[in-house]
Amino acid sequence: MTKEEWNSLGFAYTRTPYRFVARWADGKWEEGKLTESAEIVLNESAGVLQYAQTCFEGMKAYTAKDGRIVCFRPDLNAERMADSARALAMPAYPEDKFLDAVKQVIAANREFVPPYGTDAALYLRPAMFATGAVLGVKPATEYEFRIFASPVGAYFKGGVRALSLCVSDFDRAAPHGTGNVKAGLNYAMSMRAGAEAHARGFDENLYLDAATRTYVEETGGANFLFVTRDKKLVTPKSATILPSVTRRSLEYVAEHYLHIPAEERPVPFAEVPSFAECGLCGTAAVISPVGKIDDHGKEIVFSDGNPGQVLMKLRETLVGIQHGEIPAPEGWLFYVD
Ligand SMILES: *Cc1c(COP(=O)(O)O)cnc(C)c1O
Repeated sequence: MTKEEWNSLGFAYTRTPYRFVARWADGKWEEGKLTESAEIVLNESAGVLQYAQTCFEGMKAYTAKDGRIVCFRPDLNAERMADSARALAMPAYPEDKFLDAVKQVIAANREFVPPYGTDAALYLRPAMFATGAVLGVKPATEYEFRIFASPVGAYFKGGVRALSLCVSDFDRAAPHGTGNVKAGLNYAMSMRAGAEAHARGFDENLYLDAATRTYVEETGGANFLFVTRDKKLVTPKSATILPSVTRRSLEYVAEHYLHIPAEERPVPFAEVPSFAECGLCGTAAVISPVGKIDDHGKEIVFSDGNPGQVLMKLRETLVGIQHGEIPAPEGWLFYVD
């Protein structure tokens, strides 16, 4: 494929030749192996179908400047997926085996890893789900762990664009619930809110904390970043926010590469109009700038509705680190070959 063809890919499922599958039965994980089979045959009463016992992860593999295939901090995804599994009463997949499976899937599908210089990537989707039949409500006794890969294009085609958000009247995650883990059920219940926001012309929802509706949580799939007028990075802290790998990396990059102080603390929604810049972060886009937030007809505008300069510098720096153009902190780049 040409560079243009790689970049023109959307964010959609494309079947690649190999995926890794390991099953849990009789109280243990089997060794697991690569397979060509993308279809799964499930019992009609499988725990995933009846009670949504499933969690997932997402990360990207790509070619760095030195020509080697890398993945960005997959050890944090391995750890987070184990946390997600435990929160859903599922057996955690061993973190070292997770990393080994990541390597195997990328190596087996290496023709789908874009070359250096495109904004495309081979997206990896680890997922775990209850395959065992249940009828009474209880954890299943059989599970499947799977990692498949799908090539995806640049998130922003034709340049970074500032998003417009709206404050949602729905909640994303309950206090002491599953907001801090990557459970499929969090996404299921955000779909209606997302569809309604899209129908009203907004890109995403801003969710407030469910208990008091006064603090900023996150969107359906990305954490918030704010920049104060005196150039500090502020990120919302809450026990019901998903700990984004990108956000944690950006906080480090802000402090250690750009000498921008980074504060993680509760952010009252009332403080939001005082920030100079706003953005969202996650694996897919690294940082998506936010130009506007609509709060029930009242509009909050950042940087005249354009991408903020501090956040764009932060984005460029992290992307440079990911691609091996700027030296990475120890252990951030996971070499596949
Ligand atoms: C996956 C996810 C993110 C982003 O996390 P990254 O590790 O940076 O990709 C943020 N919020 C939610 C709710 C998520 O599910």
